[in-house]
Amino acid sequence: MKKKNLKKAVKIGIDIDNVISDSYPAYLDKFNIQYKTDIKIHQISEFYYLNKIIEENKNIPGRKIVNFIDELVLDEEFQLNLPPIDDSVRVINNWVSKGYKIHYVTARPVEVREITIKWLEKHGYWVKGAELDLFNSRKGFSSDAEYKADIAVKHKICVFIEDALEIALKMPIPVLLFDRPWNKFKAKKNLIRISSWKEIEDTLPKVLK
Ligand SMILES: [Mg+2]
Repeated sequence: MKKKNLKKAVKIGIDIDNVISDSYPAYLDKFNIQYKTDIKIHQISEFYYLNKIIEENKNIPGRKIVNFIDELVLDEEFQLNLPPIDDSVRVINNWVSKGYKIHYVTARPVEVREITIKWLEKHGYWVKGAELDLFNSRKGFSSDAEYKADIAVKHKICVFIEDALEIALKMPIPVLLFDRPWNKFKAKKNLIRISSWKEIEDTLPKVLK
């Protein structure tokens, strides 16, 4: 009997916001203008920073702040203008040329699927065979972390690139954690902290071994 080729396809899971799209600074600029604050990006010490702002600003109703951010999430012009992160498109296209599969997994709501694809196309990320999953609140996941872990298992993703420590820690697979002001905690075993796409490119072969 002929031996089957059991070589596993390399599938790379990639988060979008703050991993390939430089989103946080753009949201922060809008926020600072709207609420006349001067919060700097290095001050964003936790991923769910919005909750902290709401807690600390009793003079602004929390609901109002959440709505303001939700409107930006749905705002096509704002979304399409988010800048890509240096070098990421080159690395991703290089992986595709090696036969790797790209699966974008974002906690953005399913309502912005079209806008997200437009952005991915605009900057060259919508590569051959790419897949995209967005958060569907009707599917009953208790958190974005649980949803991403579920996608990773279901789609046999080998490694995930993420910026939220809360999500990375829930991942049952190796994670390359993009170094950000909001994830400066001690990394666990399945996490490898990286600070650029060049570093991701250089580190990946070791993770896939
Ligand atoms: Mg992210």
